[in-house]
Amino acid sequence: MAHYLDSPIEYLKGVGPQKGDVLKKELGIFTFNDLLQHYPFRYVDRSRFYTISEVSEEFPYIQLKGTITKITAFGDKRTTRLTAQFTDATGSIELVWFQSIKWMREILKAGKVYVVFGKPSLFNNKFNIVHPEIEEAALQKEVTKGTLQGIYSTTEKCKAMGIDSKGILKLLKNVIHGLPSVLNETLSVSILGQQQLISLHEAQIQIHFPATTLSLEKAQHRLKFEELFFLQLRLLLNKQIRSEKFRGKLFSRIGDNFNTFYHHHLPFELTNAQKKVLKDIRVDTGSGKQMNRLLQGDVGSGKTVVALLSMLMALDNGYQSCLMAPTEILASQHFVTISELLQETSIKIDLLTGSTKAAKRRVLLEQLQNGELNFLIGTHALIENAVQFKNLGLVVIDEQHRFGVEQRAKLWNKDETLPHVLVMTATSIPRTLAMTLYGDLDVSVIDELPPGRKMIKTIHKFEANRLAVFGFLKEQMALGRQVYIVYPLIEESEKLDYNDLMAGYESICREFPLPQYKVSIVHGKMKPKDKEYEMQLFKEGKTNIMVATTVIEVGVNIPNASVMLIESAERFGLSQLHQLRGRVGRGAEQSYCILLTGSKLSSDARLRMRTMCQTNDGFVIAETDLQLRGPGDIAGTQQSGVLNFRIADLAKDTAILEQARAIAIDLLKHDAQLMQPENYMIAAKIANAEKRTGNFSRVS
Ligand code: ADP
Ligand code: MG
Repeated sequence: MAHYLDSPIEYLKGVGPQKGDVLKKELGIFTFNDLLQHYPFRYVDRSRFYTISEVSEEFPYIQLKGTITKITAFGDKRTTRLTAQFTDATGSIELVWFQSIKWMREILKAGKVYVVFGKPSLFNNKFNIVHPEIEEAALQKEVTKGTLQGIYSTTEKCKAMGIDSKGILKLLKNVIHGLPSVLNETLSVSILGQQQLISLHEAQIQIHFPATTLSLEKAQHRLKFEELFFLQLRLLLNKQIRSEKFRGKLFSRIGDNFNTFYHHHLPFELTNAQKKVLKDIRVDTGSGKQMNRLLQGDVGSGKTVVALLSMLMALDNGYQSCLMAPTEILASQHFVTISELLQETSIKIDLLTGSTKAAKRRVLLEQLQNGELNFLIGTHALIENAVQFKNLGLVVIDEQHRFGVEQRAKLWNKDETLPHVLVMTATSIPRTLAMTLYGDLDVSVIDELPPGRKMIKTIHKFEANRLAVFGFLKEQMALGRQVYIVYPLIEESEKLDYNDLMAGYESICREFPLPQYKVSIVHGKMKPKDKEYEMQLFKEGKTNIMVATTVIEVGVNIPNASVMLIESAERFGLSQLHQLRGRVGRGAEQSYCILLTGSKLSSDARLRMRTMCQTNDGFVIAETDLQLRGPGDIAGTQQSGVLNFRIADLAKDTAILEQARAIAIDLLKHDAQLMQPENYMIAAKIANAEKRTGNFSRVS
């Protein structure tokens, strides 16, 4: 069986070398099995004929049977439009062609009975169907007869070779006809029974040639479950392998550094959520296994101090720690914050970034290696080979999605026993996505903000109200507050955006003139040093306005800045808007986020603005973002191959995903090595997948 399905696609009846090439290049279909797993992206109902009197705009597609009564050609020199009057017992409708006119004229015959399939639209108060599929009823082909029909994605090049959606159906028929036996089942009897799933064989056939709507639903359910289950199982297995293979540094005690800081230097009481996360970390690091924990916490929820307390735990057990941030601004901000918090202690802490001077760097690296340095904070510079710790016990990574998974792995490779890894992110990833992307990490959530925070007021204004908005900024600045003005910077049109930004900056400088107002600017094209300088001016209150691109998106903490004005807000995604908003509302004052947009908005953009105005909850925002954009676009997920699903949809199949994960966990609890006879097919499929894609246990 494996042999048959692994056959190269060109050997399939109806394919051959030429079409085979196109299928490989255009659709990534290399084998019979690949074709079998090329699922329809939607279905049309050809299970019945409707009457013309039933036609309404409700139907995306409709199948009719009737007679062509009259054919008319329009156009001066050349026919540019062809119409056919199509009639059944209940009425008549017009069929219209703007293309392939010559061909249609040849084949359409008045008086003949046809089956027509297409999308009705209303034109001049009458229904017509433009470019319908049409077949002579007497000659109607087997593939289009009487069922729900799958519609497959293809490309222009495929179509040119006759591999359109129907062509794919034909090829699928050939694969299925040639099957030497029933497809090997991949799920155990007990899972099939418990989840009431149909067999893989049944599902693979029904997904392409559904007998009824119900059997299609069952097939879809089975295949989605299959896809999500095996993904979860692989993630969980990797986690299991890792925890067996790699021991972690044992943090057996809480000592003086932690206790003194906690009781005497911590300037506030931890929130319950922060305490809970610390407990999770304490348990992990005390287990002798390596911790791999993702800490999710909305902007301003206080992740930094959790990181610091974990680093103190490491120190009490004789280990060094490092904290890595995605930008120099953030790294130095962490350095300053943590240095301040630690100023009454003798803990030695330093900062390493790309712009650290060579002389300083040399000293630092030496202190790192001889163990003099306790905490090192920095950027990507931390993962260069020259950076050698004496005994690194804990790695904290802030704003995970900016780092590729490979970089994370690199950090680990510095030592034989792996340091614990704590990844912190303010991108509230919806549960479903977290389960999948970080299925092999443990997840903690800070779901509570420190007390006394005022809700940020979010307002959506149109460009036409710009003057009023500026008036409001002036009022706020008169009260001593500072203001951010953010411009979009999207990579594809970087140059254009840069021009927008500079034009904006100039007009802001005109609108808010010296000496009363002082304006800072920070953008990606500036040297790190200059950025730093401008940030510092703003931080110290020496400037009142910070004009910036999204470089200030993550982490920057300036409590006196209480207004965030986002220019062209319609060009930002929801998560990004939320991140930007998180830059204000950090002090005691009422803060504002103003979304400025053009007057013409797409319905998605309108929904984004509305969502922002309605909620401050990062998880609600993240869920909406997932619904709007799908998982592929969510920050940081592109690099992760795990999201290329054949049939599952993370935005919609939450329930199946949760089921699949629960079943996978349960399975491993009872049969951790997948050695029991009833699970042999599961083990076989895992082994097979591993062979094809390589073990990815080192990836995340
Ligand atoms: P984020 O999770 O976005 O990184 P930070 O760690 O920067 O948040 O914390 C935001 C602000 O809240 C900081 O000024 C920090 O000192 C303060 N903070 C953190 N935890 C508490 C707490 N439990 N009570 C009061 N303030 C806190
Ligand atoms: Mg932070």
